[in-house]
Amino acid sequence: MNENTHPIPEDVATHIVQSLAQAVLNINRYPDREFTELRVGLAGYLGHDLSPDHIWAANGSNEILQQLMQAFGGPGRSILGFPPTYSMHSIIASGTGTKWIPGVRDDDFVISPSTVVDWIERTDPDIVILCSPNNPTGTALSIETIEAAYSAARGIVIVDEAYAEFAPMGEPTALTLLPGRPRLVVSRTMSKAFAFAGARVGYLAADPAISDAIRLVRLPYHLSSFTQAAAVAALAHADEMLAMVEDIARQRDRIIDRLAEIGYRPWPSWSNFVLFDGVADPHAMFEALLARGIIIRDLGMPHRLRVSAGTEAETTIFLDAIAELTLEFGLAS
Ligand SMILES: *Cc1c(COP(=O)(O)O)cnc(C)c1O
Repeated sequence: MNENTHPIPEDVATHIVQSLAQAVLNINRYPDREFTELRVGLAGYLGHDLSPDHIWAANGSNEILQQLMQAFGGPGRSILGFPPTYSMHSIIASGTGTKWIPGVRDDDFVISPSTVVDWIERTDPDIVILCSPNNPTGTALSIETIEAAYSAARGIVIVDEAYAEFAPMGEPTALTLLPGRPRLVVSRTMSKAFAFAGARVGYLAADPAISDAIRLVRLPYHLSSFTQAAAVAALAHADEMLAMVEDIARQRDRIIDRLAEIGYRPWPSWSNFVLFDGVADPHAMFEALLARGIIIRDLGMPHRLRVSAGTEAETTIFLDAIAELTLEFGLAS
């Protein structure tokens, strides 16, 4: 899978348990339906002059995307996305009765500003969804492409930044584009960078009117007191959590370099995984790695596999195994 393989640090875990213990004392009451403390924490974490009014949270960014499509999509409306991309985008579209329009990327999975504008002009979607960096390819999305999409679209433009923290330091995120763009929505998650997938915490940053629209479709009290308490506690340790992210990004770069040495063609990646081409038989390689206790991802793409960066030790085990197995299986010609 592509979640964070690092367990959360022990001092953070202790703080979370203390917060949960406090929350259980009031568990007979409904939670704060506006999750104010969590929105304060998330706004502080994101920076970029965002205030709690700009933040909305839900049980994972999948729920964020579902609430957005419930509010802005639905029967008779459409959403434009660019496969190969996060599979839940089209699944949530279908679950909310929103018509999925698959755009076509340029070479190497890039989406240029002119490509995105061309697709928006041709299909006139109600929603545009872009994934930055893209899952499953790791491809970066330029700020110029997001700006161009926003200018061309008449409806909301969602940028799914689930892996934003793994991008190279100092690269601008779509958050920098929020001022003056009330239809732009940046979706984030604590599942990946914060190693918090089991807690189910996703969130968005956007103009406060976006949260007001979601308030019409969300179920009351959708975020439990435990979820809120755990997330607030984890956010207080953001620096410690992000130190892990740097280590994962280093392992990702190591995977890219080593796979290229072995003879594969890895794509550049700004996320915590690497898609690579040149695999003679992806299914056989997947099974052989599995037999050694290593799970990577067979996406059903010819000659391609995807691997997530883990700890340094896990990465070494994977790289040694694939080097050996490549001697046995060869490379795709
Ligand atoms: C993992 C992932 C999500 C969903 O994460 P949640 O656990 O629901 O927050 C959303 N988008 C992308 C691109 C992802 O990879």
